[in-house]
Amino acid sequence: MAREHGFMLRKAKEEATHLMTAAEEALAAELNLSGGTAWAKLHSDFTSQLMVTLELDGEVQELPMSAVRNLAYDPDREVRRRAYEAEVATWRSAEVPIAAAINSIKGQVNALAERRAWDSPLDAALFQNNIDRQTLDAMMEAAHESFPDFRRYLRAKARALGLPVLAWYDIFAPVGKSAKAWSFEEADQFIIRQFGTFSPKLRGLAERAFGERWIDAEPRPGKVDGAFCMWLREDESRILANYKAAYNGMSTLAHELGHAYHNLNLASRTVLQRRTPMTLAETASIFCQTIVRQAALEKAAIPEQISILEASLQNACQVVVDITSRFLFEQNVFEKRKQRELSAAELKKLLLDAQGQTYGDGLDPDTYHPYMWAVKSHYYSTGRSFYNYPYMFGLLFGLGLYACYQDDPQRFKAGYDDLLSSTGMGNAAELAARFGIDIQTPDFWRSSLDVVRADIERFESLIAPQ
Ligand SMILES: [Zn+2]
Repeated sequence: MAREHGFMLRKAKEEATHLMTAAEEALAAELNLSGGTAWAKLHSDFTSQLMVTLELDGEVQELPMSAVRNLAYDPDREVRRRAYEAEVATWRSAEVPIAAAINSIKGQVNALAERRAWDSPLDAALFQNNIDRQTLDAMMEAAHESFPDFRRYLRAKARALGLPVLAWYDIFAPVGKSAKAWSFEEADQFIIRQFGTFSPKLRGLAERAFGERWIDAEPRPGKVDGAFCMWLREDESRILANYKAAYNGMSTLAHELGHAYHNLNLASRTVLQRRTPMTLAETASIFCQTIVRQAALEKAAIPEQISILEASLQNACQVVVDITSRFLFEQNVFEKRKQRELSAAELKKLLLDAQGQTYGDGLDPDTYHPYMWAVKSHYYSTGRSFYNYPYMFGLLFGLGLYACYQDDPQRFKAGYDDLLSSTGMGNAAELAARFGIDIQTPDFWRSSLDVVRADIERFESLIAPQ
């Protein structure tokens, strides 16, 4: 029994070497309530109250920050530009307390990491996520190599919108027209069929989920927005969705069913063995989403192809390019915060530098967003530093597995379920190595990004040159 839980026991043992004395830990926990946690609460309470003054349809309006940020998806460029400018102006007027919050939180995390004998807050975060520094470096190296390709995507998107260069406020602008409506029944049949191309077991899971009504599908008054999958018992899950009769609705369902399939494979494990870190939690969902995307692309008319590719590349660009900018920024903030507090102007400069290193000339540098450090609540947590690179790991690990599947379907299928059932039982690098994949060198990550590169090339070829 102990041997079967060897990984988590060894992990607990190592964790114990990173504790202060019991009295010090008790004091730190108590002070955290009026320290780090209080600053995090200030950030969320204060920023959720922010109202933005904005002229829309010839009328001056007061809108909540979240509503103004959502205007980034508006088809009208003038609306997006005005929303962006009003948003940035509002953050500027609010920067002092928010800078105080980030300084306090990062200062506290630095102090505790040192006392707990971590080399850095990043090392503590890597430990929590079951990955090592070598793996992170290999992934980041491949990500940096892909930035010129993502800039090609951004330039193609600019062409599609008839612009010389994309501004920050064009990142989420809609491109392409999707004429095809995906009814829920159609999505149900399509997913079952495509999952069936992978294996009878995956198909069977989808059939069961639809047949036994595991999915709360439609939006209703009083129902929370979004989508997620929850393990219920043994091999059963339940899915909350807010189904929209469009490609995205179908794709989201396939994603959540991937989580249900992951849970199915974890069914034989004990509670301690199923503790999957964030880095590996998206392994099956991304894989399933990629299966239905490739199949939908095959049959789609050209305008539909453009819209599917754009949605997927927009997401990949966030997860690879934007996430790297957040990672670089957070690393620099921790480093500099060791010496002293940082002013809002310094925080802005660090972030603009990071956006320059990642987006580069893919966006007009005069329109970078200097206040994303105020926007993203992920920076305001003492328990979860670097809540950014695990997203990239999740996407690229799922895509890399898809590339392996394309390469040698039989060998892949023989080991995939075992890999999913083991995600709480080893470091990511060990688990991948058992499956014959080396994630500590950049090649695997390059093959993940090649899946994205192929989409970028296809997208470019569909957008007529200017
Ligand atoms: Zn997910």
